[in-house]
Amino acid sequence: MSIYDFYQILGQLVFIVGLFLLVLLSTTLILGRMQIKENRLIFPKLLLFTVDVFYGLFKKFSEQVGVDGKIVDQIGVEVRNKVNEKLFSKIKPKDKILVLPHCLRHAECQANLETSGIVCKNCNKCVIGVLKNKGEEMGYKVYIIPGSQFLKKIVEQNKFKAILGVACYQDLNLCMMNLSNYPVQGVPLLRDGCVNTKVDSRAVLEKMGAILPNNSEIKLDSSCSSETHRKKSL
Ligand code: SF4
Repeated sequence: MSIYDFYQILGQLVFIVGLFLLVLLSTTLILGRMQIKENRLIFPKLLLFTVDVFYGLFKKFSEQVGVDGKIVDQIGVEVRNKVNEKLFSKIKPKDKILVLPHCLRHAECQANLETSGIVCKNCNKCVIGVLKNKGEEMGYKVYIIPGSQFLKKIVEQNKFKAILGVACYQDLNLCMMNLSNYPVQGVPLLRDGCVNTKVDSRAVLEKMGAILPNNSEIKLDSSCSSETHRKKSL
């Protein structure tokens, strides 16, 4: 084979691989958007394969075609949630872990940071206290963590069968990816950032399997409104 033939075959291979990737990323983007919009599973294994294996490339591709790269994390989270939801709900709370991000804390939070994470004092100033109390009452082990290093330690040091986490879409997707051996569930933050974040508490409680009171006075959609959280008792 001459050097010319070698480069010709190499060029054809690169073209075929490029074309394959283009079709794969486009198909996943279209199906992922449909999945998010219609809340039903469409080729979940294909979607998760693309998100997990081509994560960075898929984000760049989405941005190139004018779609916010955040959609890649959204697809990963929503598909995994849907795939795992039945199995997760069958596992008893005592075998599950609930992980909350410390950024949900009230600005005046007095809780200390220890090796297991933030030790909430149940001052009722933020939603963490509500979720923690309810989770522990149901049997969950609850952790409030400042970063993924803590999550690694929690996973290593605990025996559990399932995990429910709250985080921004990107952190949630990457954690769910790393914990894909478990029937993991995630609730994305409504407002992300380093402080003063916000979560749909009702969505967290529903995923926990909590029976919610039919009480419209209980406002459960914010993170650190001191007024509302003092009133909560679930
Ligand atoms: S309820 Fe919220 S603000 Fe109060 S100690 Fe716990 S985490 Fe901190």
